[in-house]
Amino acid sequence: MIQPVPEKDQFTICIEDCRGRCCRYITVPVATPTCHDDWDEIRWWLAHEGVSVSKDEDGWSLQVEARCSNLRADNACAIYPHHMETCKEYEAETCEYTGPIDEEFHLRTESDLADYLERRKLKRGRQVMKAIRKAERQRQRNQRKALVQLKPLTL
Ligand code: SF4
Ligand code: SF4
Repeated sequence: MIQPVPEKDQFTICIEDCRGRCCRYITVPVATPTCHDDWDEIRWWLAHEGVSVSKDEDGWSLQVEARCSNLRADNACAIYPHHMETCKEYEAETCEYTGPIDEEFHLRTESDLADYLERRKLKRGRQVMKAIRKAERQRQRNQRKALVQLKPLTL
């Protein structure tokens, strides 16, 4: 007879399956961008590795990949149950690992931002979008130059 598979507890899901995903970044709510300077600042954030920006029903937020110093090598929390209230709000049933992801979008690179501004035709983000496109072309030119320089010398 087939035995029913026992449901996993949160501890097992967090540590063995998910491996502490929510302990490896921080997220901070930010104001909705409305002007050129706001979009330019978001571009600056996105130029940094491990930084991304997303929007959901609560608004815009900034994410920074950063491993919590309390996360043990086995993915358990070293200070449980004396961890932060913010951490306690995460439930394995509804979190980003097992629950639905309610993000409207998630921008990870400058190019993502340019695509977004282009798609939305946001007038106040137009200059930032153009600057990103120019920078993309400049990077491509620099890459091509570097490849030419790497060509082996013929004797
Ligand atoms: S609460 Fe969710 S995201 Fe966080 S470690 Fe557990 S399963 Fe992963
Ligand atoms: S304090 Fe513990 S539960 Fe909170 S983020 Fe750090 S390791 Fe995860």
